Amino acid sequence: MIQINENYLKLKASYLFSDIARRVAAYTAAHPNQPVIRLGIGDVTEPLPPVCIEALHAATDEMAQRSTFRGYGPEQGYAFLREAIAQHDYAARGCPIEADEIFVSDGAKCDCGNIQEIFAPTARLAIPDPVYPVYVDTNVMAGRTGANVDGRYPGITYLESTPANGYVPAIPAVGVDLIYLCFPNNPTGAVATRAQLAAWVEYARKHEAVLLFDSAYEAFIRDPAIPHSIYEIEGAREVAIEFRSFSKTAGFTGTRCAYTVVPKSLLARDAAGNRHALHGLWNRRHTTKFNGVAYPIQRAAAAIYSPAGREQTTALIDFYLANAKLIRDAMTRLGFACIGGDNAPYVWVNTGRDSWDFFDLLLNQAQVVCTPGAGFGRCGEGHVRISAFNSRENVEQALARIAAAL
Ligand code: PLP
Repeated sequence: MIQINENYLKLKASYLFSDIARRVAAYTAAHPNQPVIRLGIGDVTEPLPPVCIEALHAATDEMAQRSTFRGYGPEQGYAFLREAIAQHDYAARGCPIEADEIFVSDGAKCDCGNIQEIFAPTARLAIPDPVYPVYVDTNVMAGRTGANVDGRYPGITYLESTPANGYVPAIPAVGVDLIYLCFPNNPTGAVATRAQLAAWVEYARKHEAVLLFDSAYEAFIRDPAIPHSIYEIEGAREVAIEFRSFSKTAGFTGTRCAYTVVPKSLLARDAAGNRHALHGLWNRRHTTKFNGVAYPIQRAAAAIYSPAGREQTTALIDFYLANAKLIRDAMTRLGFACIGGDNAPYVWVNTGRDSWDFFDLLLNQAQVVCTPGAGFGRCGEGHVRISAFNSRENVEQALARIAAAL
């Protein structure tokens, strides 16, 4: 009988969201007249901006006519979208990124999960804790980590984000090759300063390492001193890959469009020491395994770069950020140390107690669902993540209930 990839057996079962669902279901079954408010979810709640809907309709009409119908498009994305991204997300911020260095895809999740394929199985990993779980799990599947021991993998250098370092991990003392960074961070909402990012770029240049920079929440940055892209840092073109997504920027979580930037100047060695451009490898992977994002979706994504699109997406993000401020202010008033929520849709609350106990407390006393930090890694213990993705009414009601209960 054919054998399985046994690395899959090393995956730590993820009980986080099923555990949350089980506890919420048990509570609602016992208290059918007490509706719960969910502030645990990382999914958007507001509809797509009108410019996107208009573009979707127009592109759908094009698909209905033989003269404007489109079949397969370029796997890397249509030029109209790649050029808009290069101009508005990069050139406008002084980042030297060309349109053909941008690979349009159906999600940052797939891209930051797939990227590890182009690196050697022996690549030494550094991954944040707490963390968006995709970076860890895809490397476990690929056999880079070893077996799980007490919730951690020996093949990973954990970049710990704690109250002591302001939730921005220090550069590791040991040598690593592949470094995952996520700013603004999920789950902590922390952002990295220009100096902190410059230190990572310097490390990567010195050690010939590669930074995998996930900036899915870039649109939430409001502090003008915080870089939006790793390529705002001098020298990053030689050491960094960046992941971006329209999911949180424009409400595309169900619509699916994202992109990955692989600069042509980013090189890595083969076993014999010869240098190769990672751009060519990623282009080969992408065009072999992916057949492009739907044309109407790419038109909808491109629409956010029009003046009306900029206005509408800014208003959308401002709405969630106002929710986040209400959450952070309310939790701070209750005496909890919080970060995030100012340049991110997540507020990370230091509860000073077991994160599942605090989750149960909010559920049972306030009928509010949050996400226990322990579900994101060992360093998440003692914290919960509260998400700003909800209606204003729900956020206000949830906070009033929490204030009354605690
Ligand atoms: N990266 C981070 C840090 C995320 O939190 C998420 C989604 O929650 C993603 C990537 C996935 O984005 P996408 O919807 O483009 O797959």
